[in-house]
This record gives sequence, structure tokens and C-alpha cells, in this order.
Amino acid sequence: MLGLMQDWPLLCQRIIDHAAINHGERPVITRSIEGPFHRTNYAELRARALRVAQQLDRDSIKLGDRVATLAWNTWRHLESWYGILGIGAIYHTVNPRLFPEQIVWIINHAEDRVMMTDLTFVPLLEKLADKLPTIERYIVFTDAAHMPKTSLRNAIAYEEWIVGADGDFAWKEFDENTAAGMCYTSGTTGNPKGVVYSHRSNVLHTMLSLQPDAIGLSSRDTVLPIVPMFHANSWGLAFSSPMTGAALVLPGAKLDGPSVYELLDEFKVTCTGAVPTVWLLLLQYLEKTGAKLPYLERVVIGGSACPRAMIKAFEEDYGVQVFHAWGMTEMSPLGTVGSMKPQLADLKGDALLDMKQKQGYTPFGVEMKITDDAGRGVPWDGKTFGRIKVRGFAVSKGYYKLDDRILDADGFFDTGDVGTMDRYGYMQITDRSKDVIKSGGEWISSIDLENLAVGYPKVAEAAVIGVAHPKWDERPLLIIVLKEGQSATKEEILGFLEGKIASWWMPDDVAFVASIPHTATGKILKTALREQFKDHVLPTAIAAE
Ligand code: ADP
Repeated sequence: MLGLMQDWPLLCQRIIDHAAINHGERPVITRSIEGPFHRTNYAELRARALRVAQQLDRDSIKLGDRVATLAWNTWRHLESWYGILGIGAIYHTVNPRLFPEQIVWIINHAEDRVMMTDLTFVPLLEKLADKLPTIERYIVFTDAAHMPKTSLRNAIAYEEWIVGADGDFAWKEFDENTAAGMCYTSGTTGNPKGVVYSHRSNVLHTMLSLQPDAIGLSSRDTVLPIVPMFHANSWGLAFSSPMTGAALVLPGAKLDGPSVYELLDEFKVTCTGAVPTVWLLLLQYLEKTGAKLPYLERVVIGGSACPRAMIKAFEEDYGVQVFHAWGMTEMSPLGTVGSMKPQLADLKGDALLDMKQKQGYTPFGVEMKITDDAGRGVPWDGKTFGRIKVRGFAVSKGYYKLDDRILDADGFFDTGDVGTMDRYGYMQITDRSKDVIKSGGEWISSIDLENLAVGYPKVAEAAVIGVAHPKWDERPLLIIVLKEGQSATKEEILGFLEGKIASWWMPDDVAFVASIPHTATGKILKTALREQFKDHVLPTAIAAE
């Protein structure tokens, strides 16, 4: 017997409808690319999204067509998403920090028909346009007054483009499993892979993220999504904020410490999310100026491991709760969030930091297992490493135009991450499986060492890679960027680590560099570091020979 409940397809445009009806006046504020702050609200944003949908429809963009966006978080980008979604076309967010060849590759692979972009990226696209034959039209997120002269095919200012549409238009209706969005993983090795979200998976993921022990927003929040819409759907914030009626502050192109601080303070932001590198800049700014964060209640940190010192600074110096989260593009992206279960409610000081440093536990909608190489579950003892595998309603089952099977016999996707699970169900990432350092058959976590090293007050950023060793296969090399104006010695840094790690984890050498390369999503680019240090001879290697 089947249930007798209504068939109400989970379509993303229903989110903005709900926001306009229930929270129509809640503000959406943007630091515009042109400069000044721009204010709108959910009712206006929906009205303009309908005009986008109507105009795309007139331009013969159809169900299943891909519309690329190469753009910062702004109100125009957001209303375009809903406009694209509302006719069953697919928003394809392109990460501008990718190498130009990768941008060309993914746009051609996705066969995008339209490109919507910011003023910032017009010069870049002009250089690439010859290699982008599928793009029929470039729509620049600006008005006629700011529109530059450009050679881009059929280029038009966004405001000019929608001026002809009056918004007297109804969203299209279609199956909830229809593709909604595409996002390519950075592909540090090989070509990027296209993840394809559906309307259903996006709506369910939004509700997943809104569980109180996940990101748990409310209509009383003011949210600053610093994590870009092109980085795994801005971790769902572009959907979850309107679904709850939380006010939005969109940062545009400026993500430096002073600019982020200005938004947090001026607009009394209560919840924000970004990768650790962004918070590093903000914390340095706060340290330098003595500014405080009186309004901010919660900060979601993910994308790469959040250093202990960062959690401590937010929680103890600024009174802001840190939610350490883990996920990936293939998971829409949320996989785990580190909120405290009641058994842990009394933890304080170092014990609390130990727990907060873990990536947290799965919200409803994500199932996780940790296995050895043979696929057997490893004990949940907080010590035994294994491969992290997941399944759920917002987890990929394949990649665009690739036939590879990516699920195991039970439908779990191997995330490529290695970690431990403790008895409370809290997962801690040890490493990407390709970054873990294999020393004499045992594994050393590069993430643990990096986290410890950035706890040293003179250190701005740290990376650890495995370097070839004649006796142990690989041994850790610690690469350090010092804070401005600081100097330090190898002995001093290693002395700081002593007693905090098992002696065989101690890095064999320390290299000081001016900067560490990052991927397009703000992670340490280990492949580049391995290349840079491939001929590095460890002092212990000489001794062993
Ligand atoms: P890309 O791989 O394209 O850079 P993703 O955001 O999909 O973009 O990257 C996902 C990966 O980022 C995860 O598989 C994991 O290795 C890493 N990651 C994400 N969040 C965390 C975290 N909190 N701690 C450690 N690693 C993380």
C-alpha cells in the first residue's frame, strides 16, 4: 500500500517563493562589484529571479541547458540561480581561481550555452572566448553605465538584459530529480569531474543543513556566506538562508581581513562560514587592531582542517562558537558538523578544544562508515585510521559524462579521505589518502602536524609533506611561513612540537618559505609542494646512507 500524501516535488524555486511570502522584507545586502553597498530583500529578489527566468525562456534556454556563472557572491548571482533553476535549466558555477585551461575545459565539457559573469572576469573571458564555442551569449552582472566595451559574443549588461522582462511569468514544473546545478571538483590530478545536483538533493540538503546540530539557521540570523557560491554551493547557505528567512550579507569580491570585519560589524552578522585561510586573515586583522566581534555568534569552518589555535582564538578571545565542518563537492557538500552532543556538554578548556578539532558527526541524511583497505569496518576508538565512505540523499552516485562506478556494493562513496571515528561518533580527518605520510609502514597525519605547528605564535601557515627517505620510504618535512617580521630556527620549531607528538612523528626537517601555494578552493596545494621539494634531501636521509 502506498501513502496517500500529496506529490509536492522538491523544487529549488519553492525556496525563494517561501522566502518572499514569509520573509519578504528580510534584507539581502551586497558589497557590489561596482563599489557601494546594495540593498534588496527576498520579495524583490524573487521578482527579479522571475524576470531572469522569463528572459532565459525568451532566449530559448530550455530544461536541461547549462548556464555558467563565473561570479562572486552578490544579489545578482543569487537571483540568477533561482531564475535558472525556475525553468529547469542548470546553474553551472565555475571557480575563477582555477587555471584558465581548467576553466576552458570544464565549460566545454559542460557545454554551457550562456555565461553570466562579473565585471572582474570580463578581461579573463575575453582571453578565453575563442576557445569557448558553446557559449552563445555573455551576460555581465552590471548596469549599462558600468558596462565596459567588450569583444565578448553578444555581450549585454545584466540590467539591460532583464529590462524587457516584466516578471509576469510562472516557474516551470518538472520532476524533482531534474538536474539543478553543476560544480566541478578541482581535480588536483587529472581532469576535473562534474558533480550534478538535482532539485531534490538540493532541497533535502538544505533541510539537512538546517538541523539545529548542523548549521541550524533561523529567521533571526544574519548570515554572511564568505564561502563562494562556486565553492560547493556556498555550503548550502544560498538556499538555507532564504528557506529560513535569515538576512543575507554578500561579500562580493573583497574577502580580506578588514573588508570581512567591516561586514561582520556594520551589518551585525550572527553566523558566517569560510575556509581557514579567510579566518587567518580576519584573526590577524583583529589581533593587529584590537577589534572585537560583539555580534557574531557562530562561525562554520571547513574545506580544510581548522587549526586548534584558530578554534581557541574564536572561542576564547572573541566568544564566537566554532562549528568545524567537513564535506566535499560530491556531498552537496555537508558531511559532518562538530556541534557538541549532550554527553560532551560539560567539556571545557583543552578537552573541549580536542573535541572541536574533530570534524564532527553526520546529520540525518548522511550515513558514514570507516573501513580498512579490504572494506572491513575499523573500530570506533578514535585511534584506528580508515577510509571514510558515505551515502545519502545528497551524495553523488556518478560524475557527468563518466561511466566509472563510484559506489561500493552497499552504495557507499569513497571520499578519498582517511580518518578515525571515536565512540561518540565524531569523525576526525587524518589526511587525504594521497597526502598521508607512510613512514616504515605506519601512517603519519600531515594535518595533525600542520595544526600543531600553526599553534606556535610566530607561525602564520604550515604544511607537511612526505619526502623520500632511504630507510623509512617517506619522512615528514615541515614547511613554514612565518608571520610578518618574525624569524625562527628549525630547532625552535621542532622544540615546540616536542612532547606533543609521538617521537617518530617528529618532522625530519623544517623549510622556511615566503608563501605556500593554495588550490582554487583554498586548500594547501600539496602536489605543488611535493614538486617543489622533490629533490629535498633530509638530513636524516644522509645519516641513514
Ligand atoms: P576540491 O576537492 O575541489 O578542492 P572540495 O571542497 O570538494 O573541493 O574538497 C573536499 C575535501 O576537502 C575533502 O575531501 C577533504 O579532504 C577536505 N576537507 C573539507 N573539509 C575539511 C575539514 N574540516 N578538515 C579537513 N579536511 C577537509
